[in-house]
Amino acid sequence: MHELGIVFSVIQQVEKAAKENDVKKVKKVTLEVGEVSTIVPSYFEDCWKWSIKKSEVMNECELEMIIIKAGTYCEDCGKTYSTTQYGKKCPYCGSEKTYLYTGKDVVIKSLEVV
Ligand SMILES: [Zn+2]
Repeated sequence: MHELGIVFSVIQQVEKAAKENDVKKVKKVTLEVGEVSTIVPSYFEDCWKWSIKKSEVMNECELEMIIIKAGTYCEDCGKTYSTTQYGKKCPYCGSEKTYLYTGKDVVIKSLEVV
């Protein structure tokens, strides 16, 4: 139930933002979803539809997901490359001193309100 936890956390953040800005209805939420964030978009959407019914400000809220490509940074040569293509080993210099710098998180990009 990994997705459900993230859905709840997103809803909480959106509700908080709506309250702070005196918003009555949130029409649409755009999320940036990292390619290696481990969530399954179709399952995430199911959780979303089910969860927002309980939320007064979000019960008609649409969800848009933008998939962000995963990128890895190499500490040895300073280059970046596609994580899904090459994994942990740098394709330029062969180093394994690399880390994922993008594509892991789920981030709220924007909200559309009524
Ligand atoms: Zn390298």
